Amino acid sequence: MNGLRSGQATVAESKHERLEFNDLFTPFDGAQDRLRLRAFGLRSGRTELCIALPGSQRERMPALPESDMTNDPGNDPAEPHAVELTVWDVPAAAEAGERFAVSVGARCSAGCDLGGRELSLFDQEGSPAGTVKLGHAIWPGTEALYFAEVEARAPLEAGSHQWEAKMAGWDAELPHAPGSFPLMVRVVPSPDCEVTVRAVDREKQTPIKGARVVMHPYRAVTDDNGIARVRVARGQYDILVSGPQYLPACASVEVTADLITSAELDADQPWASPDEDPE
Ligand SMILES: [Zn+2]
Repeated sequence: MNGLRSGQATVAESKHERLEFNDLFTPFDGAQDRLRLRAFGLRSGRTELCIALPGSQRERMPALPESDMTNDPGNDPAEPHAVELTVWDVPAAAEAGERFAVSVGARCSAGCDLGGRELSLFDQEGSPAGTVKLGHAIWPGTEALYFAEVEARAPLEAGSHQWEAKMAGWDAELPHAPGSFPLMVRVVPSPDCEVTVRAVDREKQTPIKGARVVMHPYRAVTDDNGIARVRVARGQYDILVSGPQYLPACASVEVTADLITSAELDADQPWASPDEDPE
């Protein structure tokens, strides 16, 4: 949310069409460096929120543990505090054997300071894959969500791997129970071919800048010359090319070596009133 000085933010649950917020908009106070969201009727349980800021890219927010919305004093000293973990910013795909990073956060049900506590990722076999110490800052807008970015190396085998973020329990001062959170690591083969796609306006035969070229899960955006270079692993792909004000185009290709191709896009005619000047 850096750089936002004034305005409003829109918040919606990303995974549910049915919104249960009564207050979707919150005025942003330019004097503060954080955004306070007032959400009423938020369903219980973990909820992923998307925050859309005017004129900026969408930013992901971590799921807020449910008890952020209530006051849980954790009043029984004999009962260990529960530690809830959450993971976000998991890449859509990680290249086999390459390093990638995810964001992790943890919150004690009684709001204890978790800064400096270690949190680890474990791979599908249960082996440690990466460890980080939580920072001392709290995620803006939450009361006690401590967070960090942890790096790990993706497995060599392509496919989906079920990993887990874990935090060990501890007994110093107040007893804390261990916490865990699952994450899916999707691994794709290392790219060994380059596909060059030139996006062209079919009618004007001019290059289209800023068009998105998707060869799932690989993707790129065209440059000033309408050219995008996508590094992919050998295989069969659908190339989907789309640009603002253009109808998307799709073609199937088999990639066995470097490849150069072009995509001619038809302009998506905006609706114009007959009274309006077409210019
Ligand atoms: Zn605690």
